[in-house]
Amino acid sequence: MNHLDVVVIGGGQAGLSIGYYLRAAGWKFVIFERGRVGETYFLAGHRLTLRQLMGVWEATLGRRPVRLWLPRPLALLQGAALAPLLRLLGQPAFISTEVVRSGYVSFQYSSHKAESEMDVRFRPAHEAWRDTLVSEATA
Ligand SMILES: Cc1cc2nc3c(=O)[nH]c(=O)nc-3n(C[C@H](O)[C@H](O)[C@H](O)COP(=O)(O)OP(=O)(O)OC[C@H]3O[C@@H](n4cnc5c(N)ncnc54)[C@H](O)[C@@H]3O)c2cc1C
Repeated sequence: MNHLDVVVIGGGQAGLSIGYYLRAAGWKFVIFERGRVGETYFLAGHRLTLRQLMGVWEATLGRRPVRLWLPRPLALLQGAALAPLLRLLGQPAFISTEVVRSGYVSFQYSSHKAESEMDVRFRPAHEAWRDTLVSEATA
């Protein structure tokens, strides 16, 4: 007989995180979302790609520009190969397929929801990122 173990109301950050772990644990569940799945509030400005983030990092801290960008399939392959090796050496797997994937999604945020619902404007994301780098460097 078909049954659900869990019903999650809300597909925001918490609901989607719970869904991730429920699936990993093999539980049957459903997530109800009345709006747009995963949409959330951010006050950090507009979308920045990883390359743009690195550009701010280079300009702010005077680092040498990144010259080699692996295509995504190669980066995933590298992550898959290095993670078990790092674990074998007793290191945390700071390079893995999950880390590579998160590099493509983590910074695709936007303050559109907060701006449109609250009728306010926030400073651009690259300014927030630059200020974070400066405060970390001077801490
Ligand atoms: C104005 C504002 C700005 C913020 N800025 C930042 C920021 O810059 N950086 C940061 O890290 N955090 C920020 N936060 C905090 C961040 O948005 C929250 O911590 C995060 O969204 C909480 O995730 P959540 O899943 O608990 O809730 P939510 O993201 O609110 O998700 C809950 C979901 O449940 C859905 N829902 C509710 N009731 C029902 C129902 N009856 N049926 C179906 N679906 C339903 C909603 O539509 C929503 O999608 C901000 C929050 C606010 C309010």
